[in-house]
Parts: sequence; C-alpha cells; structure tokens
Amino acid sequence: MRSVKSLATAAEAGRHQREWFADLRRRVADGEPFALLNADVPHEIFRTMDIPYAVSQWWASLVAAKQRSGHYLELVRQRGYPDYSEQYNAVTLGSAFDPEPEAGPWGGLPKPDIIVGDATGDVTRKVFDIWGHEPGVTFYPLESAAENEVPVNWWELMPHRWEQAVGPARLDLLTAELENLVRFLETTTGRRFSESRFREVMALVNEQEEWNRKTRDLIARTRPAPLGVVDSIPSVMLPQWHRGTEWARDIAKRFYEEVRERVDTGQAACPDERARLMWIGRGLWYDMGFYQRFQDEYGAVFVWSMYLAIAADGYIRYGDDPMRALAARFAAFTDQLYTPPWSSEWYVKEARLHGIDGVVHLVSDDPRGSYFTARALEAAGFPVIEIHADNVDARTFGDEVVERVGRWLENVVLA
Ligand code: SF4
Repeated sequence: MRSVKSLATAAEAGRHQREWFADLRRRVADGEPFALLNADVPHEIFRTMDIPYAVSQWWASLVAAKQRSGHYLELVRQRGYPDYSEQYNAVTLGSAFDPEPEAGPWGGLPKPDIIVGDATGDVTRKVFDIWGHEPGVTFYPLESAAENEVPVNWWELMPHRWEQAVGPARLDLLTAELENLVRFLETTTGRRFSESRFREVMALVNEQEEWNRKTRDLIARTRPAPLGVVDSIPSVMLPQWHRGTEWARDIAKRFYEEVRERVDTGQAACPDERARLMWIGRGLWYDMGFYQRFQDEYGAVFVWSMYLAIAADGYIRYGDDPMRALAARFAAFTDQLYTPPWSSEWYVKEARLHGIDGVVHLVSDDPRGSYFTARALEAAGFPVIEIHADNVDARTFGDEVVERVGRWLENVVLA
C-alpha cells in the first residue's frame, strides 16, 4: 500500500533532497571530498567546513523505499559478510561493493573519502571497519562512552544543563575527539574550520529544533491529530540531514506554520479519530503505507514517531563553548533513544504527552533496550504490541503483521 502525503512541506523537503543530491554528485565528480556519516555523529563540523556529506541511514532508507535493499544485502553476502545483521548500515556498505554504483537510486551514492561512525554496539563498528578497508576510504571512529548514574529527566536538563545531564567525563572525551577530527579534516582536505562560522551553524540548529519542538507540542495537544507520521517524518527528517542551514531552519518554521494552519482550520489526518497510536522504532521505510492502513477501518492514527519527538527533545544545546555543546548533543544520543532508564522514561513521558491509546513497537535485532521500553510503557498503562522485523530489510516483514495489529486494535485498544 502506498502512503499518501498531504503536507506541502513534506513535498518540498522531498524535492529539495533530490536537488541537493544531484548537486552533491556534481561536486564530488568535480573532485571535492565526500564524507559518509552515521546519523548520530556531529554533522555540524562538516557543515561548518563545507565538506559535502550524506547520511548512511538516509541512504539506506531511500534504498529500502525503492525496494532495493535486497540487492545491496546480496552484495554484502557475496563478500562473505552476514546480510542479516544491522541491515540499516549493511545496506549502505553494500553500495561500496556495487560494480554498477550509478545504477543505484538517484544515480547512486558516490564513493566516500571519509566515513565517520560511533562505536555503539559490536556490529556497527565492524560494518564501518570493513568499509574503512576499501581503497581510498578512511574510517574515523568515535568512542561510545557510558555513565553509571544518569539523571532520568534528561529532556528537561539538556538544553542548558547538559553538563549535568551527560557528565563531564563523557564530554571531555568527545570534545577531544571532535577537536582531533577537525585537525584531521583540515589536514586531509585543506579546508579551514572557522569558529565564527561554527557558532552560526550551531545557532541555526537550535532554531530549527525549537520550531520542531513547537510542532511536536502542538500535535501532542490537538484532537483529532492534524497529521500522521507519514507527513511528519519527511517534514522533520529530511531537514534534519541539512541541520545548520538556513533552508533547514526555514522549512522547520514552515512545517510548524502549516500544522498550525491545519489545527486552526480543523483539518485532521482522520476526522473520526478513535485511537492515537505511537510507533516506537525506526521507520518502516519499505512500507510507509503501513501507517495509514488502520485509519479508515479503525479510526486509529499514528500520531507519534521518534523522529519529530527526538528533534524536539534531543538536539537543543545552548552554551558559550560550541565544541563542548556539540559534544553534549551526541555523547548520549543513543542513550536517549535506546538505553533505559533514559529511553524508557522518555517514551512514557511522550506517550502521556500525546494521549496515546496504544503502542506499536518495532523490535529489530540491534537496538538495545526494547524489553525495558515495552515494560515501562505497559507498567504506565499503555498497551504495547511488538513487531519483530528489520526496518530496511523487507525479507523480515510478514504479511500477517497487518492482521495481527488489526486484531490487537479491535480486542485491546478499542475494546
Ligand atoms: S548483554 Fe549487554 S553487557 Fe552483556 S555482552 Fe551483551 S551488550 Fe555487553
């Protein structure tokens, strides 16, 4: 089932993404350096230095949406590597092995000169290590540190009191790694890192995410929901990959205004809304129609995904030391989404804020903490159904899932 998008900002973000990628391919063909970055590493440094970059997970989501992930996973398997583990990054690794890269979506992903990933989990690190062995590719790994004691209300502390939320030891480590990354990039690309430009980029990111925060809060308190996740995900995530640009800041503002207008004129994703659903997990990129299937028959609307919510709560960092503030944005990023009690308490907070009636939880193999997320939500009174599948590997997703979710809506959520 194809998803139907109705928001102008979602359409504009899609258009911009195509033009941006064509321009990126041109720049790389002209000899500029190209970086491939994992989603939760500090893109802001590459933005500041005007080094063209793309995001590994964005590329995998595009490949999955084009129903092409099987092809890239096959290339991974042919090299003797597992095709059934951490597919979100393995799909993009497969593009490095493609004998016909230009046959890929949108003309194909150019070959990167530098890749940056963090060492979260055993598999992610290995995927990037293998990639770093390709000729001409340098892998710059970032550590993944942990803290024993964490303040649970991180979403209240992060904007201004991030030192307290994350802890000085983790911030010291990542700040030093980022300073080294800047030196490495200056040496290898010949580009200069300008502190005043960096401050501008950091300020634009905060402005963008402040708009996202207003949008999240507006959707949370509006009944029936003005839009579902099929519109909110592209409107927030495509601009997220352009963080630190005026375009991204401005479209975040227009996204808010468009949602505001829908609220003011009483437009709804599903006027006969009977249930508000939360989707926990990564986007089901090969079947975005999934999220709209339950509206007509059950009046059940997916009003929540992590994408707008983490934009609202996870990125904003103020402070006079921009490099340390940037480190604070990413030192605990994975924890915010996947490590209890940070993640589990946050999902419960968001479920309450949005008046959620039921939670559909996509459990993939690699993100940690799923058990605690489901348990915390159930303990707080929210019904949870788990789907076990990988979000870019359609081979793992069975037809029976839609039926199961339908039965759960009838028997549990709407009963
Ligand atoms: S269960 Fe947790 S702590 Fe133990 S090996 Fe696995 S990831 Fe590490």
